[in-house]
Amino acid sequence: MHQGDAFDYIIVGAGSAGCVLANRLTASGRHRVLLLEAGPNNRHPWLHIPLGYGKLFTDRRFNWCYETEPQPECDGRAIIAPRGKVLGGSSSISGLIYIRGQAEDFDHWRQLGNAGWSFDDVLPYFRRAEDNERGADALHGAGGPLSVADARDRHPLADAFIEAAVECGYPRNDDFNGPTQEGAGYYQTTTRNGRRSSTAVGYLKPARRRANLTVVSEALATRVLFHGRRANGVEYLVDGEKRSARANAEVIVASGAFNSPQLLQLSGLGPASLLQSLGIAVVADMPGVGNGLNDHYAGRIILRCNEPLTLNDAVRSWGGKITEGLRYGFTRRGYLTVAAIAAGCFVRAHPSSDTPDSQCSIALYSADAIGGNLHPFPGVTGICTLLRPESRGSVRIKSADPRQAPAIHPNYLATAKDRETIVAGVKALRGIFRAPAMARHIAEELEPGAQCVSDDDLLDFIRRCGSTTYHPVSTCRMGSDPNAVVDERLRVHGFEGLRVVDASIMPAVVSGNTNAATIMIGEKGADMILADAAAGAGVRASRAA
Ligand SMILES: Cc1cc2nc3c(=O)[nH]c(=O)nc-3n(C[C@H](O)[C@H](O)[C@H](O)COP(=O)(O)OP(=O)(O)OC[C@H]3O[C@@H](n4cnc5c(N)ncnc54)[C@H](O)[C@@H]3O)c2cc1C
Repeated sequence: MHQGDAFDYIIVGAGSAGCVLANRLTASGRHRVLLLEAGPNNRHPWLHIPLGYGKLFTDRRFNWCYETEPQPECDGRAIIAPRGKVLGGSSSISGLIYIRGQAEDFDHWRQLGNAGWSFDDVLPYFRRAEDNERGADALHGAGGPLSVADARDRHPLADAFIEAAVECGYPRNDDFNGPTQEGAGYYQTTTRNGRRSSTAVGYLKPARRRANLTVVSEALATRVLFHGRRANGVEYLVDGEKRSARANAEVIVASGAFNSPQLLQLSGLGPASLLQSLGIAVVADMPGVGNGLNDHYAGRIILRCNEPLTLNDAVRSWGGKITEGLRYGFTRRGYLTVAAIAAGCFVRAHPSSDTPDSQCSIALYSADAIGGNLHPFPGVTGICTLLRPESRGSVRIKSADPRQAPAIHPNYLATAKDRETIVAGVKALRGIFRAPAMARHIAEELEPGAQCVSDDDLLDFIRRCGSTTYHPVSTCRMGSDPNAVVDERLRVHGFEGLRVVDASIMPAVVSGNTNAATIMIGEKGADMILADAAAGAGVRASRAA
């Protein structure tokens, strides 16, 4: 085995959180940091052009292209589960929507016992990360590494969707990250001047000039190394060659909600029976590692429009493609700057909800499948995301081989409340598309179609045709109960020198899109790591496992 150098910190995964950590931990020049990333560099143009989102869905060069186990409540289907595998991680392939979640989400994390994670506690980290083109105010930041911008162009169908939502009685909302999330408006995106602002661009690029940061891409971490209960290194594969590096201070796992629990399980931290069944020596029996997977499920409806106003029409011909390409090249405007979804409306669909439980959105295209070919006629897609799913699932390795994908089981729609809420949400979404301002643009609802009327039929459609909005969290959950994996300082329970800092630590998914909250976790995690280093404490086990 190639015996590598020693560093202070080794970060596994250069995704939304990993790039933030790499930047913040190297800023003082005092700490030597190794950043390992399984995927390649982020030079490909589609990683920078917002519309590239659609291209990257199924591109195995930059995407792990996972799929779930057959989902019992979703007609037994395996559902796609893309994840970024490239510098910037999922922030390099995401739909670019900037929504933090509701203040109540973070207050709920705090109520679960996680000191330091209430909305008031985390707001400074959202603000520090942000460079909002609207400028700073009490809720927003300016000058941070993450660019947040308004839509470059208004679009008649997005305008109509917002108008229709207002006709349905929902308020207008120009800032979903403002005082209230409820209502309809355009989404802000993580872009700058019509280009994607991934964490590889905003955080990693400026940090790469620093001599104390080493980045190794195309390096698959296979195991965290331990001396007793202290993590002291990482083993990884480059071009089939096994290497290792030592960490004098900490190993920080930032591999995302699927791969962080996978790496811990491969390292001997997980449900003992699972590890034993695969011949992995048990370092700690931790049933919570990989348990509790919480993800956003969505119902999608497809509508044919009566005018050629959609992306389908703009890029159908070569002439259209060239026109859009030139428009983007010269003005940084047009369809190539458009994020996955253009505008939306947060609604309280279930009678028991005090705050929005459904995110209804319009995408300015329609396709025969997610990531598939655009329809050869004008079309749009309506998406309703169930914001606070109760259903919980798991991530479990299937093999001791780190190159094998884990079994991903989100357990979508497992509870009656989730099923009731998503049916109510899709009804609200259909209501917006049927309101006069929008209805005048719609020729027909193709899926589920006018014949689908009863709640039972609608639920059946959602089970057969719904999908994820790609926000898995909670597989290395923060907390103090026996199934929690990390404490409120993100230290793995029972270990020294080991943290998890990424979306997997969220106690529950936020009521929005998860990139902003993960970047906040990276910012806050970095502060805690640096504070512990300054205190000379290193990381101490918070309780015996
Ligand atoms: C298709 C898609 C669309 C999305 N759209 C939006 C959106 O519009 N808005 C939004 O807010 N959120 C969106 N998200 C969600 C958001 O991107 C994620 O929640 C967020 O990026 C998660 O950050 P992370 O740091 O936890 O993981 P990631 O960003 O996924 O980073 C993990 C990194 O670790 C690397 N890695 C994994 N295992 C290993 C290993 N063993 N060794 C070395 N490296 C490893 C991975 O390759 C990856 O680069 C989307 C996600 C996807 C996939």
